[in-house]
Amino acid sequence: GSISRREAIKAVTAHSTPECATAEAPLADLFGVNVFGKSVMKARLPKNVYKKVAATIDEGLPLDPALADVIATAMKDWAIEKGASHYAHVFYPLTGFTAEKHDSFLEPDDAGASLAEFQGKTLLQGEPDASSFPNGGLRGTFEARGYTGWDVTSPAYILENPNGNTLCIPTVFISWTGEALDKKTPLLRSQQAMSKQAMRLLSLFGHADVDTVVSYAGAEQEYFLIDEHFYYARPDLMTCNRTLFGAKPSKGQEFDDHYFGAIPDRVLAFMIELDRELFKQGIPSKTRHNEVAPGQFEIAPVFERSVLAHDHQQLMMTTMKKVAERHGMTCLLHEKPFAGVNGSGKHVNFSLGNGNQGNLLNPGDTPHENMQFLTFCGAIIRGVHKYGGLLRAAVASASNDHRLGANEAPPAIISIFLGEQLMDVFDQIAKGGATDSKQAGVIELGVDTLPPMKADPGDRNRTSPFAFTGNRFEYRAPGSNQSISDPMVAINTILADSLDYIATELEASFAGGLELADAVQKVLQQIITDHGAVIFNGDGYADAWQEEAAARGLKNLRTTVEAVPFMAEKENEELFEKYGVLSARELEARKDVILEQYSLTILVEAKESVEIAKTMILPAALRYQGELASVAANLTTAGLDATNPLLSELTEQIGALSAALATLEKGVEGFHGESESEEASYALETLIPAMASVREAVDALESIVADDLWPLPTYNEMLTIL
Ligand code: ADP
Ligand code: MG
Repeated sequence: GSISRREAIKAVTAHSTPECATAEAPLADLFGVNVFGKSVMKARLPKNVYKKVAATIDEGLPLDPALADVIATAMKDWAIEKGASHYAHVFYPLTGFTAEKHDSFLEPDDAGASLAEFQGKTLLQGEPDASSFPNGGLRGTFEARGYTGWDVTSPAYILENPNGNTLCIPTVFISWTGEALDKKTPLLRSQQAMSKQAMRLLSLFGHADVDTVVSYAGAEQEYFLIDEHFYYARPDLMTCNRTLFGAKPSKGQEFDDHYFGAIPDRVLAFMIELDRELFKQGIPSKTRHNEVAPGQFEIAPVFERSVLAHDHQQLMMTTMKKVAERHGMTCLLHEKPFAGVNGSGKHVNFSLGNGNQGNLLNPGDTPHENMQFLTFCGAIIRGVHKYGGLLRAAVASASNDHRLGANEAPPAIISIFLGEQLMDVFDQIAKGGATDSKQAGVIELGVDTLPPMKADPGDRNRTSPFAFTGNRFEYRAPGSNQSISDPMVAINTILADSLDYIATELEASFAGGLELADAVQKVLQQIITDHGAVIFNGDGYADAWQEEAAARGLKNLRTTVEAVPFMAEKENEELFEKYGVLSARELEARKDVILEQYSLTILVEAKESVEIAKTMILPAALRYQGELASVAANLTTAGLDATNPLLSELTEQIGALSAALATLEKGVEGFHGESESEEASYALETLIPAMASVREAVDALESIVADDLWPLPTYNEMLTIL
């Protein structure tokens, strides 16, 4: 109760920042030391084997399984030298988390000794039981086998622990019928599908020599840090990763004084150690700063191949939590840990390209002449318009619903921001052909001593969910706690579809005798006519946009319950099947898993709300009511005026809480549904409003009940004491 709250505050204020182990080695020397990457492989594998592995990683060529024994032995020797006793197949189940199953290298031999064993077949394939992970019905108990398979394109690495290290091997996770049970398999499949269509298009531009086209991703991760003593004094944070109660702090983020402000020492110590840990794993951490809300921060690595970026992003989230613990803090990755305070997103920046074409989304100085760039850009415009519902569904979760649609994150309406210059070029294309590109000027500073600064050809737009930012697109709807797989799978797949469409159109135009430039103008003009409605350069937070978007026929899918059914719509089902990314059964299973997770999340929150309100809040309020009542009684005895508006207000709020609590309890008991989607609808329509009423009463009580009786650390305490 309030004792633990006071203890927490005492412990937090007594904290002193530990010295960081910066002397260990300079940061630059740490990069990749724990990674079985190309340089280690080059040094340790026979030349011909190394070449084949490198070709698989760089060019997407298949790897001969016969080489697995040689690679496994080299990997094991390296891992043992690095202090590993165990190896683990790491996989990414549909929960969005990272799973690992550890096995020892040691196997007893006949003579009673033990041998370090690691065979090629063990590297290639594992069979974790792992049948408890949600699978949307893809694994009945009678067909419960699930396999992990080595993903050669993502390097193995050492996971350090003071008590012994582990060799981690990134894998895919599939059922014995070959159906994807994870977030990684469709990502690999979608990358391959996109690459195939992109190469086809590039060959029409005269680049027949391209081996592969890679999608790149760079994710900006937002997060909160709070002192662990507060975390442990908040059962809601411990159970739900978000606060279910808490009145808004008197001083919130109105002053904008936290955003990009000086980073507190304690947090900086965490960030420095985090960078070191990430560097060791070969994760190119680059940017760190304060975010908008008090207690909120951001980290962004340099972009990488999206498949690798996915694995690294997952490892980054795990590492952030671990390092925070070492610093006596808890890292909150939830999208909305504190109501009324800015939430956390994970902007996914993406582009595509390869070694010999470079970045295909680089417009150059005169984009109107850069037909190839415009074509790729057109593919994205078409895809985002045609499959906006799918992109929205790809980031749907109970926790992300708190962000999307609120005035802090992009709206749930998926539109594209192109910037002034590109918008103008596409306007010209729509009118018959682009002849020039607006150029950016030099910024006039008015200070002679400052060197002139170059302006970008367009300003930024912070409110667009899908923004062109100079040489990449930035998808801003993903939530801080989400895997980047789902959005990247959606992006790769809709790109495959649009690139396929464009290539087919160009081929038809060529057959009809058109030259390249005319054929490109023709298809882009068609795309702008059909899909230009998705382009929006204005303020996405404005109410007017909601109306305009509706008039343009853009979907506004506010909740997971509305968004997720779109995944399994006929056209999306056909899209995923056509490009071999997900079968109809796999897609259906995913839809069910998301809805199931949604309902479970809300059900757990509802139960926790009841528990806290009943066992912590109500008792505090009743105690205070008792105090006030006895004061009143004493005053009356003494013949004094006992009227106390506080007592009546308190009594009223206690009544409100009791009533709301009864409704919520009934809601929890009545939780049911014939299907995942019915259960999710019940959670949305019955549990969420009932929880909101309980919260309203509790938050009102927080401003009435005496502070020394209040059991939960407050928003002010959690967000401003670090
Ligand atoms: P912002 O200005 O949007 O806050 P940040 O520097 O925080 O930018 O993060 C930008 C992210 O975009 C980084 O992860 C960065 O590596 C990534 N990025 C930059 N260029 C590309 C690109 N061509 N393709 C994909 N991601 C990119
Ligand atoms: Mg940023």
